Amino acid sequence: MRRAIFLSSPETWQHGHGPQHPLKPERLQRTFELLSEYGTLAAPNVQVIQPRLAEADELSLFHTQDYIRVTRALSSGELALPAGSYGFGPGDNPVFSGMYETEALKAGSALQAAELLYNGECDAAFSYSGGLHHAGPDFASGFCVFNDCAVAIQWLVDRGLRVAYVDIDVHHGDGVQNAFYGTDRVLTISLHQDPRTLFPGTGFVDEIGRGAGTGYSVNVPLPPLTFDEAYLRAFEAIVPPLLRRFSPDIVATQLGVDTHYTDPLANLALTTHAQLALFQALDALSPRWLAFGGGGYAIDLVPRSWALAFGVMSEQKFPEKLPAAYRRKYGGSLLHDATGPDFTDAVRLRVSGAVDEVIAQVRQLHAI
Ligand SMILES: [Zn+2]
Repeated sequence: MRRAIFLSSPETWQHGHGPQHPLKPERLQRTFELLSEYGTLAAPNVQVIQPRLAEADELSLFHTQDYIRVTRALSSGELALPAGSYGFGPGDNPVFSGMYETEALKAGSALQAAELLYNGECDAAFSYSGGLHHAGPDFASGFCVFNDCAVAIQWLVDRGLRVAYVDIDVHHGDGVQNAFYGTDRVLTISLHQDPRTLFPGTGFVDEIGRGAGTGYSVNVPLPPLTFDEAYLRAFEAIVPPLLRRFSPDIVATQLGVDTHYTDPLANLALTTHAQLALFQALDALSPRWLAFGGGGYAIDLVPRSWALAFGVMSEQKFPEKLPAAYRRKYGGSLLHDATGPDFTDAVRLRVSGAVDEVIAQVRQLHAI
């Protein structure tokens, strides 16, 4: 039976970016509670591990020493620093009290997941507090302070492993792509909403890597309203053949669930049924599975979707009805979506045709 590890600590949901910020820490708390109420975390093949803080020298696997120092100083209330030139400020990346410890814990969680997989202590590890794929070496971006994905992948690459990174968040995984843009040791694949219509504005088909990394950066920009069947068609046409060709030791995945049709920040139109199918497909493609969380701003959706993800990782199924204690506290009724987006046939046809065009472009560029 597959051994799965869930990395979780209440410390990751004690501080947040502020009451108005969409990246609400209770996403993490609710996911933990839903999995606990289902009994998933008590299964014999599951271990729950409290993550540790990443040390400064571990963060420097990807980040500059200067950025690490400034982030720590801002977090502890130092005001005489040019926060804005490091990407901090009101809006997406506000400085908050406890920021350094909270964010270094998420990076530590990713590193610990990578270590556990590297040491053969599990087959799948879910560091669900991370997936902070926009952060750059010396700047915060898109709600992301430390790029836990890039830090953990670099740690694995330093030990000689080949890593494929698949990012299914609705936003382009720009920070991770850029981290490995010039190397053939890491294959990055990002499926996301068309960058002409969404932050961060990158992730076009022709961003394919540079130098030795040419061909090892793959982008699949999908039109707004891309729905279950069309998304899965793109995934199946592109991701499995590329992963088979690359033959990774470990597959790292960013499992943002802001692709959902109810997500308030983006415009793709998936349901939990397609999200589950994606988790199952990634499972089948992963010799060892390093899973990160990611975006997802519909608070009632995120715990349901990530429970489905960890169910796949730990080979567990759930009753369709949400546990009574969870329903009493947070409302809701069923694990899967009971409804979905409602399109006219004309819209479906138009979106479907646009997705097919993207598939053809990507397959041609990458000789699939
Ligand atoms: Zn996102």
